[in-house]
Amino acid sequence: MNVRDSEAVAAELAAAGHVQADDEESADLVVVNTCSVREKAEDKAVGKLGLLCKSKRERPGRIVGVMGCMAQRMAEELFNRVKGLDFAVGSRAALKIPEIVARIEAGSTRIWFPGELDGIDVPNGHTAPGISAFVTILLGCNRHCSYCIVPDVRGPEYSRPAREVVEEVRNLVKGGVREVTLLGQSVLRYGRQGKPVWDEEPAPGAKFTEPFPRLLEALSQIEGLRRIRFTSGHPSGCTEELARAFRDLAPVCPHLHLPVQSGSDRILREMRRGYTSGEYLEAIGRLREAVPDIAITTDIIVGYPGETEEDFEATRALMRAARYDNSFIFKYSPRPGTPAALLPDDVSPEEKDRRNKVLLADQDDLGVGNNSEWVGREVEVLAEGPSLRNKARWSGRTGQNKIAVFEPPQGIAVGDLVRLRVTRANPQTIFGDAMGQ
Ligand code: SAH
Ligand code: SF4
Repeated sequence: MNVRDSEAVAAELAAAGHVQADDEESADLVVVNTCSVREKAEDKAVGKLGLLCKSKRERPGRIVGVMGCMAQRMAEELFNRVKGLDFAVGSRAALKIPEIVARIEAGSTRIWFPGELDGIDVPNGHTAPGISAFVTILLGCNRHCSYCIVPDVRGPEYSRPAREVVEEVRNLVKGGVREVTLLGQSVLRYGRQGKPVWDEEPAPGAKFTEPFPRLLEALSQIEGLRRIRFTSGHPSGCTEELARAFRDLAPVCPHLHLPVQSGSDRILREMRRGYTSGEYLEAIGRLREAVPDIAITTDIIVGYPGETEEDFEATRALMRAARYDNSFIFKYSPRPGTPAALLPDDVSPEEKDRRNKVLLADQDDLGVGNNSEWVGREVEVLAEGPSLRNKARWSGRTGQNKIAVFEPPQGIAVGDLVRLRVTRANPQTIFGDAMGQ
């Protein structure tokens, strides 16, 4: 999501007449986009800002700013800790950056522009996109999971009107984009509250009546758009309709990032995730029944306050039951102002580290079988161009988001969908031969 916001700011700056620098070294303006989800990410950003501001000695006139969640959360502290910081802008006000830069160029210093935390200026500009683009469809988050700072720093949920999203995607496709990834903290909540996102009710007898599956259907009809992805999901959004959308709408890729966080029902309740491990597995079951090959990936937090060995083993069991294609494991980090931060952070760093390693190894075991199961089967790959390692071959991703490498057939172009027969696989990559082109 930060990559997406940074791109939108770059597009605004370009529209205001700025030119992208070749590298950080030569840039007259550097804006650091920040994340507050874990303390480590914040520490890194402060370090980076410090170095950039020091570099102003060798580069007089250089402007250094900060945007994103940390700016929202602790602008004042950042101005105190980072000498020479020129500006900070709130997480929903980043589109104001060109204006702020102009004020600094005119002589202002230390500008803090918080904007409104419930602002609805959606970052919708794109810099020259390749074949793949991100599109933000939902701002903020209303879930308030006990450990999470996102609702505090990103504000309340806002779903963009569907016609605005369709228009943005249509324009991207005109510019050559073949794949979009729709973004939202809890993307399946799209249009479930607040102002209706659709101008009209679904037609009588319509196949899709829920706001998000309807959006998928509308986007699927855009000619030239080959693939639609979205992230992140929540089990409550894994309805029969969503399962049907995965099955029946050809551009919708068979992959869902569905963070579970823990396999222990007690911890899930404390985290206020709004589901039990059983309900979570049922949600996956619904999707797999419709699309047996769907890839499911997850996020897990280890060492949540009070997490016992038994809770941890429940997480391991759930990982096996879910047969994840990939897992991102995070060590719990107390975030100021969240309900969980009031609880003692009582799992030691060494124990968090151990649990982290155990889950990574468990995921490796799950992953080894995963790719080899594709050998001998057909997959469809969106061609991205020559592979980085061996320029004679091309690479792309399967619908399941796995990297595939193949000999390019005659006349192939970037953005083509290519069918491959898989000849071999290692845990990271699938290799195949193009069929019938
Ligand atoms: N909205 C997404 C997650 C966004 S944050 C969702 O709910 O699915 C990305 C991931 O960071 C989360 O899934 C969680 O695993 C992790 N995370 C969030 N807060 C954290 C914290 N305080 N400590 C450690 N990891 C955290
Ligand atoms: Fe944070 Fe929960 Fe919202 Fe995800 S759903 S951003 S974890 S509060």
